[in-house]
Amino acid sequence: MKSVNPVTGESIQTYESYSEKGVEKIINSVDKTWHHWRSTSFVHRGRRMQNLSSLLKTKKEELARLMALEMGKVLKEGIAEIEKCAWVCDYYAQNAESFLENEVIKTEASKSYVSYQPLGTILAVMPWNFPFWQVFRFLAPTLMAGNTAVLKHASNVPGCAMAIEELVRDAGFPENVFRTILIGSNQVEKVIRHQAIKGVSLTGSTPAGKSVAAIAGSELKKCVLELGGSDPYLILKDANLEKAAKICASGRLLNAGQSCIGAKRFIVVDDVYPEFLEHFTHEMNNAYFGDPTDSHSTMGPLARVDLRDELHQQVVKSVSKGAEVILGGEIPHRKGAFYPPTILENVQAGMPAYDEELFGPVASVIRVKDEEEAIKVANNTVFGLGAAIFTKDAKKGETIAETQLEAGCCFVNDFVKSDPRLPFGGIKESGFGRELSVHGIKEFMNAKTVVVK
Ligand code: NDP
Repeated sequence: MKSVNPVTGESIQTYESYSEKGVEKIINSVDKTWHHWRSTSFVHRGRRMQNLSSLLKTKKEELARLMALEMGKVLKEGIAEIEKCAWVCDYYAQNAESFLENEVIKTEASKSYVSYQPLGTILAVMPWNFPFWQVFRFLAPTLMAGNTAVLKHASNVPGCAMAIEELVRDAGFPENVFRTILIGSNQVEKVIRHQAIKGVSLTGSTPAGKSVAAIAGSELKKCVLELGGSDPYLILKDANLEKAAKICASGRLLNAGQSCIGAKRFIVVDDVYPEFLEHFTHEMNNAYFGDPTDSHSTMGPLARVDLRDELHQQVVKSVSKGAEVILGGEIPHRKGAFYPPTILENVQAGMPAYDEELFGPVASVIRVKDEEEAIKVANNTVFGLGAAIFTKDAKKGETIAETQLEAGCCFVNDFVKSDPRLPFGGIKESGFGRELSVHGIKEFMNAKTVVVK
């Protein structure tokens, strides 16, 4: 397994993949640890979780540099990602106990209630785009709930995977409460089928999710899937266009556009189309892409050259079907996996820019007649992760967000972002189950009914 710097194409470090025997040994040790870990107190777990938060804060620059080297994230965004990981650790250290309190339900019995009991060892299959955040938002509730975990991280970020294991250990958790296994995706099936694995959480592409869900289903093991998205951003007639354009461009360019909840399709009503597009083009053009360790860069390269080439093919194919490039759209003549901020106009159904997830800094702009058509187009997708709506009429925006848009997270006048306090997840081919908040911590628990006559 190799870490490759997406700026230079040079190999940073090579890691030996774990053997089948090695993986088996780790899973068994983690399972053994669970039998003890499950009976520790919330105070005991919380102390270690807070140590972990402190460690993250102390090491944020170093960890941001590791992400910059392995997957090209600019340092400023890397530091913010680590700070958010520290936040989720603090959040669950403080709230896990109250979230998992017994729920008393009055019946004819002398006592009846729901008790939340941990399931055991959970497998996490995680992606490279937020190599720390995606893992920590799983790890913090999982360990606080009394479960243990095994991490199969994406093959291009083994350095981040090993760093997370070390951080957990250094925070004072028992060695085998959380372990990384360096394996390829073709070895995941065996791990899911292992008798000690009681559930699986995957964040990644929809095909990866479907494969994992099928295997977990055949074993009747619970899974949580946080998959791709093609989030629609609706710009209504009465939107503050300048503000909306700024927010939309940030939402599209964050992490060089490699975010499941990135703003991807911009659906603009006819009356304000030219003005919005002018502001939006200006904002997208303002980005400076370059070496992620250079403090002037607002955007780094994509994580891998193959992903950049795949994205470019989606652009080329959309153009061959009638989309127009009004910004970017060409692979720069330089080393590395760079792709420029790109805007495609005249995007329609049947084009990759309309039907598929574009995982990079490419915005698909769609012109519609009115609000009603905007909602129809927004929902005309297999995905259902996030959505946003821009209007000065907050009440109307809220009604559309709550009742009309087919997505797991809908925002009014802001871009979609995750927050430890709010549930996060999708519907349709964006997956099922929820992470974060009180909902996230209950996903891998046995909601046990206890009745005393
Ligand atoms: P994948 O979804 O393939 O990878 C995510 C994780 O799943 C990795 O750990 C990967 O392992 C693992 N994985 C992949 N296929 C399987 C499988 N069949 N069974 C079990 N585990 C599997 O993402 P890619 O890196 O290949 O990126 C491809 C595209 O996926 C992107 O362009 C983007 O569209 C989408 N994507 C979406 C993300 C999101 O957050 N919505 C995150 C990442 C990607 P390994 O690395 O070893 O293959």
